[in-house]
Amino acid sequence: MLTLLMITPENKEINRFRVKQYNNFTQLTMPYLAGFVPAEFKITLIDEYSQAVPFEKFDLVAITVNTPNAPHVYQMAHKFRKLGAWVVIGGPHVTLLPEEASVYADTIFVGEAEETWPEFLRHFLDGKQERLYRCDYPPDLIGLPIPRRDLIAGHRFTSGSVFASRGCPYNCSYCCLKNIYHQQFRTRPVNEVIEDIKNIPNKHFVFWDDNFFADAEYTKKLLCSMQSLNRKWAAQVNAHSCKDKELLSLAQNSGCIYLFLGLESFSASSLKDANKEFNQVEQYADIVKLLHSFGISVQAGIVFGFDSDTADIFSHTLKHCESIGVDGVTASILTPYPGTELYIKYKKEGRLLSVDWSHFNGKTRVSFQPNHFTPQQLLDGYHQFRGSFYSWKNIINRLSKSRVNIIYNLLINIGYRQSFNKFFSGQ
Ligand code: SF4
Repeated sequence: MLTLLMITPENKEINRFRVKQYNNFTQLTMPYLAGFVPAEFKITLIDEYSQAVPFEKFDLVAITVNTPNAPHVYQMAHKFRKLGAWVVIGGPHVTLLPEEASVYADTIFVGEAEETWPEFLRHFLDGKQERLYRCDYPPDLIGLPIPRRDLIAGHRFTSGSVFASRGCPYNCSYCCLKNIYHQQFRTRPVNEVIEDIKNIPNKHFVFWDDNFFADAEYTKKLLCSMQSLNRKWAAQVNAHSCKDKELLSLAQNSGCIYLFLGLESFSASSLKDANKEFNQVEQYADIVKLLHSFGISVQAGIVFGFDSDTADIFSHTLKHCESIGVDGVTASILTPYPGTELYIKYKKEGRLLSVDWSHFNGKTRVSFQPNHFTPQQLLDGYHQFRGSFYSWKNIINRLSKSRVNIIYNLLINIGYRQSFNKFFSGQ
């Protein structure tokens, strides 16, 4: 039997930042791709979030690559090639920069892998594998295999994830989805998603979709079919879809606990910078209130560093997050991923500060020259915002106001607080 190692990578710097957070759900890509692997292979699945990579002899090593992990993956690929493995890499960074990636692996996958990964495996069994597998169109999401969740180590509260759709119809300036998913939003058949959910061993799971409410009519059909499953779930959605009360009622009745809303900013001009004018700041408070009335908590996505952001953006955002009553915030530093509109603009303007992809992680580094402050001021302001938002005083204030899913909110807030403290204590 051939040995296959499949790795979800995470470099040490990002891991140190994330590891104490309680809402880090297991990455689905590798368990999902493992579902395509025929019986001739013995699979070892490693997620570096919680496991060490075994640098031993494998016949085949497959690694998915996002931009901040690229240098780390290239190093791992080098080690495994020296140990005699055939190393294949794919994922967003490889699709964005195939020429760069091809230097570091025996085979690369460009584009989505539903058709090319099984084709490669057949070729590998015949000893006829090629150097490049490319999918230039959006493959069908029908008849997909059930992910190999049995290979995921441990039974953490956060090990359940599933996807119902792929892509997003919007076009935000900093988002690389359109470069990797052909700008075509697609959904899976409802009955297949339901079977997939039934296979999740945990009561709690997350939809790994980029924008779960992008097609509200599809989502309503899916949520109707989920009513009897007795599960608890979370998803990432766009804020303006949350004005649809029928959608929210179905979400509540099918077990939705919290929604991640990409609010991004409380500044209309910064939203304009982001091509995200469909977010209306004056509607945020009503949307949060409406979600709370359906028993759904709100985790807001916030990004700092847009060209219109000035030095008061951090205090301004903190004040507004507290006043509209979000239950948690996932804050990030604006990051120009390769291929995005933002990357092209900053490159043209000579504002990219690093050629080290590990700096493009949105959490621990600033990778571009901001407009109204220095990179250090952006980093410091971002950390100060996180420290203040997750201070005990503010956590208690929030919980006493929201009164929705108090135990979950407390856990998530404590997790973010711990990860912040751990990162700065350097442990
Ligand atoms: S709404 Fe979110 S997923 Fe969609 S393009 Fe914008 S950032 Fe990307």
